[in-house]
Amino acid sequence: MSDDHEPSPEPAPRRADQVAALRPAYQADLARGLDRFFEPQRTTCPWCGSSRLRTRLRTTDLLQHKPGRFTLDRCQDCGHTFQNPRLSGEGLEFYYRDFYDGLGEKQLSNTFAGRTRMYRQRAESLLPFASAPKNWLDVGTGHGHFCESARTVYPGTAFDGLDFTDGAELAERAGRVERGFRGSFVELAPEVAGNYDVVSMFHYLEHSAEPGLELEAAHQAIRPGGHLMIEVPDPDSRYARLLGRWWLPWLQPQHLHFVPVANLRSRLTDLGFTVVAEQHAEPHDPVDLLAATWLALDAVAPRDDFPWQPERPNALRRTLRGAMVLAGVPALVLGTLLDRFAVRPLSHRLGVSNAYRLLARRD
Ligand SMILES: [Zn+2]
Repeated sequence: MSDDHEPSPEPAPRRADQVAALRPAYQADLARGLDRFFEPQRTTCPWCGSSRLRTRLRTTDLLQHKPGRFTLDRCQDCGHTFQNPRLSGEGLEFYYRDFYDGLGEKQLSNTFAGRTRMYRQRAESLLPFASAPKNWLDVGTGHGHFCESARTVYPGTAFDGLDFTDGAELAERAGRVERGFRGSFVELAPEVAGNYDVVSMFHYLEHSAEPGLELEAAHQAIRPGGHLMIEVPDPDSRYARLLGRWWLPWLQPQHLHFVPVANLRSRLTDLGFTVVAEQHAEPHDPVDLLAATWLALDAVAPRDDFPWQPERPNALRRTLRGAMVLAGVPALVLGTLLDRFAVRPLSHRLGVSNAYRLLARRD
């Protein structure tokens, strides 16, 4: 456990030892082939049922570099973009393993813990519509860092969190949420029907196999007059086209669905919500150029040590990797500067905002 509020009694294992310990299980998984990680390919759009599909992107796992090839299709009728073939249950387990937990936990936890200002800004976007909600369920809460920040905006609100990893339980033990539910929102919703003033889903829906069912669950969990806040990557962002497979929000193979804003608006309306706010500039996370530079650099540099590779890279390859990453620093700095100071103020006008946020009130 690497949680920053819970000192671990044992010294943290060295990464090299962790990798070596995980290697046999990964190699055994890979020896069984990748086919079982995918469901049969769809011939129709999961959002509207149309059979007019076109390949939008072919890519690989650019973050973890686990083996496998992934395809995103786009529906020519409604614009919905989705992974096809989609990961199976076994595939989800394999590709998520050691990303948010295990080998990847420390790094990810630090990344999310450092984003207090973004979390506060998300929470504040509800203020004009509901200034003092009684309770709030954050779906896909991870380790509960959003709830911790949001409480400074809404000191009287009880925050609960749900996640399908043990992050929800960690968040409860660390006091960041009152209740941490571990599991599926669709299964939880009947138990908490009409219970919540607010449900939030920040970068959650794109991970779900059935986003339509998640929206129905939200409608069930929110009391009439309560609010649903959704933030997702925007598949219509110009950056998605400009940067192609190097656009970070594609995040293959984790992101299964990319919903254009008009589709989400009309589905919410059909379910019995009124959309009260649509934001594009505010949820833009100015990292596109930096991330694309990093992903491309990382893709050409020799690999770091990971347990899904057959063996540990030798000393020469490790040195080469270090040298290449160092050589890329000026490009990374330039990417950061452009993201933050040149593009950010114009993100919405340029159409490059990488996410959108919808706020809807249950009728
Ligand atoms: Zn469609």
